[in-house]
Amino acid sequence: MTSSVNFNVIGTIDSPYKEKFAIPRQPGIVTAAQGQLHLTGLANNEELVRGLEQFSHIWLLFVFHGTQSQGWKPLVRPPRLGGNKKLGVLATRSTFRPNPIGMSVVKLDRIEHCTVNSDNRNSTEDKTSQVILHISELDLLDGTPIIDIKPYLPYADIVENAHGGYAQNQPSNNITVEFSPLSLKTLADNITHYPTLQSLIEQVLIQDPRPAYKHHKSDDKVYGMSLYNFNIKWQMTDLTTLQVITIEDAKHV
Ligand code: SAM
Repeated sequence: MTSSVNFNVIGTIDSPYKEKFAIPRQPGIVTAAQGQLHLTGLANNEELVRGLEQFSHIWLLFVFHGTQSQGWKPLVRPPRLGGNKKLGVLATRSTFRPNPIGMSVVKLDRIEHCTVNSDNRNSTEDKTSQVILHISELDLLDGTPIIDIKPYLPYADIVENAHGGYAQNQPSNNITVEFSPLSLKTLADNITHYPTLQSLIEQVLIQDPRPAYKHHKSDDKVYGMSLYNFNIKWQMTDLTTLQVITIEDAKHV
């Protein structure tokens, strides 16, 4: 019996989610979230993904690298239960697990095989090939290490009449998102390079990423989040209306 195993990272995620705050709690919720999975090392070989393009969705197994250093706990407080009830970590999708492994079904939009300049900065000639999986609907932090990819098989992976316990349905927060004139101007200025940015912000904020104890209470705090290279500030204007105040392009500050 082995008591430990080693896995090799086979790819890395390029995601609009640059920090943990405001990332949806599961994939498939924010459809406007688009990212890329760059295969790495020996896995960066088009043979590994031959045939994968036939599938609309794939499973990603990954490492919760953003919380890994904080270790794990036997009991956690699922946000779904308002953050005030403890459950066994294995009864939850918490990131603080004995092995910090996550799993997400994401949409596979296309697979790209391209040639990129190698890291060898002394050479203008060196080119390497790169396999990139373009994915969407993800719930992954930028830089997430991927340890496996599998095709999603509807006949086996959809379980009819399954019980979802305390998380049977997708949570609904009844939030309306409004945009200030200033934020709409920034969106318009960036529409060419970021055509889905407004939908992404809206779909992320409809989830109400505030801590559960703040929900349904008056709250005048100004919150910030990062999507792509934008710093976004927002605030509740009443119990169910949220206003995006400013969207700042961090590259131009
Ligand atoms: N779908 C996965 C699962 O069930 O294993 C992840 C569920 S977990 C509840 C989702 C949260 O993990 C996100 O809201 C985000 O805050 C966090 N997260 C995503 N990628 C992460 C990473 N690489 N490291 C640490 N936390 C991450």
